[in-house]
Amino acid sequence: MPVTIKKVDVFPLGYQEPNDNNAWRYIVLTRIEASDGTVGWGECISQFKEATYATTALLENGLTDLLVGKDPLDHETLWNTVRGQVWWYGDVGGIAAFAISALDIALWDLKGKLLGIPLHQMLGGKQHEKLPTCASTHPKASTIDAMAAELATHIRNGYKLVKVGFGKKGEANLGTSAVRDLEFVKTVRQAIGPDAGFIVDIGAKVHWTLPYAVKMARAFLPHNLTWLEDVFQPDNLLGYSQLRAAVPEMMIGFGERFWNRNDYLRLLQANVCDVILVDPGRTEGITGMQQITQLAARHNVGMDPHCWSSAIITAASLHLALAAPNATIFEMKPFENPMQHELVTQPFAPVDGYMSIGDAPGLGVEVIESVVQKYNLKK
Ligand SMILES: [Mg+2]
Repeated sequence: MPVTIKKVDVFPLGYQEPNDNNAWRYIVLTRIEASDGTVGWGECISQFKEATYATTALLENGLTDLLVGKDPLDHETLWNTVRGQVWWYGDVGGIAAFAISALDIALWDLKGKLLGIPLHQMLGGKQHEKLPTCASTHPKASTIDAMAAELATHIRNGYKLVKVGFGKKGEANLGTSAVRDLEFVKTVRQAIGPDAGFIVDIGAKVHWTLPYAVKMARAFLPHNLTWLEDVFQPDNLLGYSQLRAAVPEMMIGFGERFWNRNDYLRLLQANVCDVILVDPGRTEGITGMQQITQLAARHNVGMDPHCWSSAIITAASLHLALAAPNATIFEMKPFENPMQHELVTQPFAPVDGYMSIGDAPGLGVEVIESVVQKYNLKK
């Protein structure tokens, strides 16, 4: 008897994130069980409560039914089936892309477990044994000196890079003053030393005009940023083009808010960045992210997983990054948090500042179902 998909469960979860000043964050997990009892787990980073309930509704009112009774080894056929179903409302992105992501990741995990091979091998093998780890942070402190000391602690603890989000919750107030932001970058560089990587992530909440961004990028140049990320809103490809023309020495990271292969193809063809940010919990799963990563590699553009939710996304992203010729770093949230440290039996952590992964089948993580229930919004 061939193994088939017996059932698909959907869990909308809510949790407070210590790495984001205890803000509430939301994800959807999927659990796909095969007829022989094997289980695969998936996730999407829906992030907001309303998006989480909407994704859950799409899954529970139609999309999971498309999988039941099917052969889980045909995961790409199933990915196409689900994409085909959402043609009217979501095959160009949005909530449907979250739903596809959560199903696709669980299908790859299940397939790996059924075949007894790790995801990185299903993706074609490792291009890297390990990647330097970046502490991806929203500083908790309020003064520049205290923030610089906080970031230097991560480097002392072994991280090879720090990434700082501007415009985030809490008292940091980064992204609000040119003079203060420049002082911040200068002080952090002094605190972390010349060899540590340093990424500044402007993000969605900070609105820089083109002349302001040019001025800031030029002012940041002497402080040797690894890259400057998400300077403008994602639609503003022309702004990115003009920024690059004005400050060609500044490396640019971009892309975490796009949805699929075609979005990234447009970005790559516009030649507006050096590194793309990608999250398999948003970009139609491992299948979608693999397509995007390969495109970027062919355009000589780096790939950095966005990776800011649960250990399921960390696992998927880490396998993808280790299998990608164009990945150079791997991001982790530096402070203990429920979706990384409670959800799985063996939480991820860098060793001597590097991330690697073993050869357990599928994603290689064991999800603790009582923890899923603890954070389940449906209970
Ligand atoms: Mg970012």
